[in-house]
Amino acid sequence: MDVRLLTHTEEVLRTVFTAARTCYSHNPPSSIWNNPSSRESINRLLNKVVGSGHFSVLEHVTFTFAINGISRSATHQLVRHRIASYSQQSQRFVRFREYFPYITPHTVKENARAQEALEKSMDEIQNLYKKLLDLGIPPEDARYVLPNATATNIVVTFNARSLQNFLRLRCCNRAQWEIRSLAEKMLAILQKEIPVLFDHSGAPCETEGRCPEGEMSCGRPKKN
Ligand SMILES: Cc1cc2nc3c(=O)[nH]c(=O)nc-3n(C[C@H](O)[C@H](O)[C@H](O)COP(=O)(O)OP(=O)(O)OC[C@H]3O[C@@H](n4cnc5c(N)ncnc54)[C@H](O)[C@@H]3O)c2cc1C
Repeated sequence: MDVRLLTHTEEVLRTVFTAARTCYSHNPPSSIWNNPSSRESINRLLNKVVGSGHFSVLEHVTFTFAINGISRSATHQLVRHRIASYSQQSQRFVRFREYFPYITPHTVKENARAQEALEKSMDEIQNLYKKLLDLGIPPEDARYVLPNATATNIVVTFNARSLQNFLRLRCCNRAQWEIRSLAEKMLAILQKEIPVLFDHSGAPCETEGRCPEGEMSCGRPKKN
């Protein structure tokens, strides 16, 4: 899976700071924007505001990721996050006449017999898919035989608040491995790019020192 941050709001911290400061200032937002504070006071205000749960200021900035080579199984989980925008490679308009790419889980790769059985089935599916196209079945119907493992490409745009929610749920060890891998890659990029907003993002055991999973907890030690 390849994950890249394509673009984000041009002045992330200045935008969030202006939104947050507007709430507590007599000055109009344009004057706050035009008279930027020091990096220290921006960081201080953002930590205070976000720490107090005033998360709506994070909705003013967005982050757009390109994700290549992820399974349809994982993107089905991804698109359950409703507060985001998606553009996904179409199986109606893109034909896989010679080869449909697919993702093989680690558990299958590490088991020679399972790997062999999976490859055999994928070959059969490829042949059936191609046969349906050859019989004049349109791609939108031939795709019904493609499996959850089919690889796809998707562009997703989240605002920072929704991203925090996504990272909280999907960096958790209880999340399925592929979407967790996506979330971990996104978190690493964001922590490098905008540390003040994302240094404390991720699974609740890491960020809040508590696990909401109860009996289902993975047992990962909680950080204080
Ligand atoms: C470990 C794990 C296991 C899961 N297992 C399953 C499963 O077995 N079956 C299954 O169907 N799903 C499952 N899910 C998906 C899960 O239920 C959510 O649909 C998904 O994580 C999206 O989260 P979200 O609703 O918080 O995100 P978003 O849709 O982005 O919503 C963000 C936030 O906005 C608010 N919100 C959005 N829409 C509404 C609304 N209509 N009403 C009120 N508030 C709203 C909520 O506060 C929500 O947290 C699982 C998720 C995880 C992390």
